[in-house]
Amino acid sequence: MPRLSLFGLPLRFRGKREAYTIKRMISVAEAIQIVKEQIRPLPVERTELAHALGRFLAEDIIADSDLPPFDRSQMDGYALRAEDLKTIPAQLGIAGESAAGKGWHNELKPGEAVRIMTGAPVPVGADSVQQVELTREINDGRFVEILESVERGKSIVTRGSEIKRGQTVLRAGERINSAMMAVLASCGYAEVKVGSRPRIAVLATGSELVPVTAQPERDQIRDSNNYSIAAYAQVAGAVVERLPLASDDPQLLKSQIAEATERFDVVVTSGGVSMGVYDFTKTALRELGAHLFFERVALRPGKPTVFARLANGTSVFGLPGNPVSVSVTFNLFARTALLAMQGASEPALQEKTAVLARSVKGTVERESYLPARLQTNDEGYLMAEPLKWGGSSDFIAFARASALLIVPQGIKSLAEGSKVRVVRLPD
Ligand code: AMP
Ligand code: MG
Repeated sequence: MPRLSLFGLPLRFRGKREAYTIKRMISVAEAIQIVKEQIRPLPVERTELAHALGRFLAEDIIADSDLPPFDRSQMDGYALRAEDLKTIPAQLGIAGESAAGKGWHNELKPGEAVRIMTGAPVPVGADSVQQVELTREINDGRFVEILESVERGKSIVTRGSEIKRGQTVLRAGERINSAMMAVLASCGYAEVKVGSRPRIAVLATGSELVPVTAQPERDQIRDSNNYSIAAYAQVAGAVVERLPLASDDPQLLKSQIAEATERFDVVVTSGGVSMGVYDFTKTALRELGAHLFFERVALRPGKPTVFARLANGTSVFGLPGNPVSVSVTFNLFARTALLAMQGASEPALQEKTAVLARSVKGTVERESYLPARLQTNDEGYLMAEPLKWGGSSDFIAFARASALLIVPQGIKSLAEGSKVRVVRLPD
């Protein structure tokens, strides 16, 4: 293994995908690095442009023509020569009309103007457009009076000023947003190469769980993790299936995981990874021959998170059962895998800096990812307001969080006003 390191983490070369097991508790950064290393992009596919929103580009997007493709008028008005407006008002002869889609393709001579519409080509010889509000047609439309002078070049977008033919406009690995749809359309991409969507199965484990349609009886609760995980996975671009609930029965759990791993690229389980007598997820994975890359992360909440791979290549994320731990660990690790599979250039949540609005407590041996609301204050600072919450089971309070604020390992508390790292939570 190469001895390069980044921030103290061992760097392994991409492409080398050797299996390694880490038993010790690893840092969040290390765990994310392992996920990025171990996950390979899925095959590329072509999609119709209309279905490309939210997908990750698998090719650079190149302009196939100059944009605009001709000198284009930005206004309804008159195309003219600025030097013909030395005395104001100036009278110019109207030589013709240039409309969007039907230009006037002669040469404008001195003393002439062409009636022009927004989006129409500016005729050769004209160097400016005066807007119609500052003009008046006279003599039955044979002449126009220009009421104000113009600076040369006014209201003309020159050919190629937005993009030149052959230039790269978007790069492989970028996520296609609504505005980029216009770019793709303008460049003629009726179909676009994108990373395939990962197929993911969501499997909640726990004998206390009942489906949302059921009235919980004594000792039971409704499963909520399957819904939050499926929603986050969908937002991350995956195609999701929620599997029937699994009870804490080692044999059944094993066969349910085995079945799921046959049909999906990723399986995300929740529950059953702690130290309890009925926590069977890791045993099931081991008995299925899965390779566990890590199983303990120095993270609060979410310490017992598992990342594993089956011999057939299916990745498994074993998340803890607490609904808040689920949201935190899914977005830190499983989401990173789903985006990496789609070829994202930035698969992990991106950290930003904010100012802490109220003091928070950290943990000595773990990094804390605490629910917070981000808001810009009147001075323009991004403020992170920690939520009042009852811990990793309090998903009601967590539903109001827009971000996680990070308290580094070993820091007992952070004072109000200090700078904190934050990651925005996906919707
Ligand atoms: P576990 O990690 O299995 O020990 O579960 C930790 C806590 O999360 C327990 O209180 C469980 O009842 C709860 N829990 C586990 N799975 C779910 C789920 N799918 N929906 C809601 N709560 C859950
Ligand atoms: Mg459980």
